[in-house]
Amino acid sequence: MEYTLNDVDVSDKTFITFLFQNKFMLGMLRICRDCGHEMNLIHSSHFDDGFEFRCHRASCKRRESIRVGSIFEGHKLTLKEMFRVMIHFVSGSKVHSTALALDLNRNTVSDLFQLFRERYAQIMESSPVEFTGEIFEADELRINRVKDPATGHILHHVWVFGMAERDSSQAFLKRVDRTDGATLVGLIKQYAPPGSIIMTDEKNSYHVLDHEDSLYAHYAVSHSAQDYQHMEIGPQDQHLNVHINTIEGLNREVRHRLSNKSVRTLDRLDIELGEMMYRKSGRGLFDPFKIEF
Ligand SMILES: [Zn+2]
Repeated sequence: MEYTLNDVDVSDKTFITFLFQNKFMLGMLRICRDCGHEMNLIHSSHFDDGFEFRCHRASCKRRESIRVGSIFEGHKLTLKEMFRVMIHFVSGSKVHSTALALDLNRNTVSDLFQLFRERYAQIMESSPVEFTGEIFEADELRINRVKDPATGHILHHVWVFGMAERDSSQAFLKRVDRTDGATLVGLIKQYAPPGSIIMTDEKNSYHVLDHEDSLYAHYAVSHSAQDYQHMEIGPQDQHLNVHINTIEGLNREVRHRLSNKSVRTLDRLDIELGEMMYRKSGRGLFDPFKIEF
């Protein structure tokens, strides 16, 4: 992992320098919002962090938390505590074990995990996955009894469409209203490069991929015929291992993440999908918590 608890187990001053150097906090050069003069980083007895930015200008003297503009802004935990929770989150720990290991309140940890998870989801929203591979697995997942927080109603079921890129670990996961051909193949066309190989189950929605004018080579397993994996010869005479085990594994993970009924809501589902995509994207797992330049 890029950062570990060793980065935290140092003096407060060294740790704060670490946060600045690794772009977890806005730069050392800060301009006063009130008067436009430069601010200095100085020791502080006013802020619990032990440091503050103070305006240069004698008639202003505006003071500002070093946390302003960072992911730490507005949170009660110490910087070290928050960073330890972040490390646990990034490494995939659960709320319960993190709270125990760090001797923190479970709800506090849960709130921070939610904040971190939302950051991952926001990034996948603003810069979605871009596939460049050749072989994709696609599948749809049905999740029963999901609460719509907007109305308070429990929806009978919702659908999630997923694609996994074989050549990388990247994935695309999205809640869809329908699982007809127009919707599912529409998403395949949007994300899979033309000419690529698409593996699915035998669902009718995917049959349009077999049409002569299809931009894709389509291979299907037939679960109803107990066919979970078989070999075929591909369009370039390559040996193709036809299966959708990768995307089915991701679907199991989605189901598992929503197994607790108390979190089975539409917005939580969307955020979990975003987090899963981010973790599979190959992007830096700490990057979303840094300052954007
Ligand atoms: Zn000032």
